[in-house]
Amino acid sequence: MSDAWRPRTQMIHGGLERSPFGESSEALFLTSGFAYARAEDAEARFSDRDPGYMYSRVGNPTVRSFERRMALLEGAEDAAATATGMAAVTAALMSHLRAGDRVVSARLLFGSCHWVVSELLPRFGIEVELVDGSDLEAWARALAKPAKLVFFETPGNPTLELVDIEAVAELAHEAGAKVVIDNVFATPLLQKPLELGADVVVYSATKHIDGQGRCLGGVILSDAQTRKDIVHPFLKNTGPALSPFNAWVLSKGLETLPLRVKAHGEGASRVAHFLEAHPAVRRVLWPGLASHPQAQLAQRQMQGGGSLLAFRVEGGKTGAFAVMNALRLINLSNNLGDARSLATHPATTTHSKVPEAERQALGITDDLIRLSVGLEDPEDLLEDLDQALQGSCRVLAAPAATTPVAAA
Ligand SMILES: *Cc1c(COP(=O)(O)O)cnc(C)c1O
Repeated sequence: MSDAWRPRTQMIHGGLERSPFGESSEALFLTSGFAYARAEDAEARFSDRDPGYMYSRVGNPTVRSFERRMALLEGAEDAAATATGMAAVTAALMSHLRAGDRVVSARLLFGSCHWVVSELLPRFGIEVELVDGSDLEAWARALAKPAKLVFFETPGNPTLELVDIEAVAELAHEAGAKVVIDNVFATPLLQKPLELGADVVVYSATKHIDGQGRCLGGVILSDAQTRKDIVHPFLKNTGPALSPFNAWVLSKGLETLPLRVKAHGEGASRVAHFLEAHPAVRRVLWPGLASHPQAQLAQRQMQGGGSLLAFRVEGGKTGAFAVMNALRLINLSNNLGDARSLATHPATTTHSKVPEAERQALGITDDLIRLSVGLEDPEDLLEDLDQALQGSCRVLAAPAATTPVAAA
């Protein structure tokens, strides 16, 4: 095994620990506990003299193998896996914080992350300040006072707005804060937050890492000491452990992640350019497009635009729903990073709990559709989108009298 291997090689060979049977594909250790030959062996493990396994809430070989592979991919010293992405976000934040601490976070966040930051943390006496993530002056103002943690995602869900990782990390470190980044949209292949100054990176492994819509998982990447002294004690005692079965599925997902991310990106590029030229589309937001409001930043900190894009159509919510309901190939689902393309209407689903005024300020308008571009042949996606957009134009153009009216 070599640390110098490139990601594609690393994702197939890295982190593998063969059992005495010499299996070629990794074994699945679906066990809750581990047996000791003698009472003294158990004593040694509990006293940390013997690093072996004790109980799968604390550690499991299949989970550890997934963690090692993730650390290799991210270029992190170590990783800690969790049952879901939200468990990873919550643990990464809570394990670092105590009453009286101050957190500065971007406002544009995945719905549940927004809840954890704005509702959960303040319950424990943690002061939280939300800022416009794309505004460096807002970050500078908020970080003029000391803080313990800075948290954000980039690109952000669902408008694909970016945060300048390098610049914010510098401000955060001056304020004494560690930087925690949710890197789900970019994946470990397209953006390297640790190289840009982040201290901790979190993923929902449910998304591109599984990549086939099968299971939930999460992972927290950091330096080895942070994992050992801060993150792992929190995880092992509070219990959001990743199932060994899911860890096995996710390790299998990593074997093809570099190839899939490349294909997702090529598909998304085709779809983004197609939509941008389509007369029925008002606006396309994809970090790989020259028209993205932060295209230069995208070029600087990302190695590709990724698989997620958002677009605005004519006719507000009616128009957006008409397009979505006319889709034949693309599924309606709020998941993302799946092999199948998925369309969602953020204003009425993932972000429906965000207050209306805040939604407008964040650009989550009623005419906005988010698309997670899958691995289908892009030609089929373009045909499906084209027929759906044309169909919606006919619906919008139809005289009001022909639309069915519900009986009073
Ligand atoms: C999905 C997602 C999460 C939460 O992950 P789960 O695995 O669903 O718990 C967090 N952040 C982002 C950006 C996500 O897309």
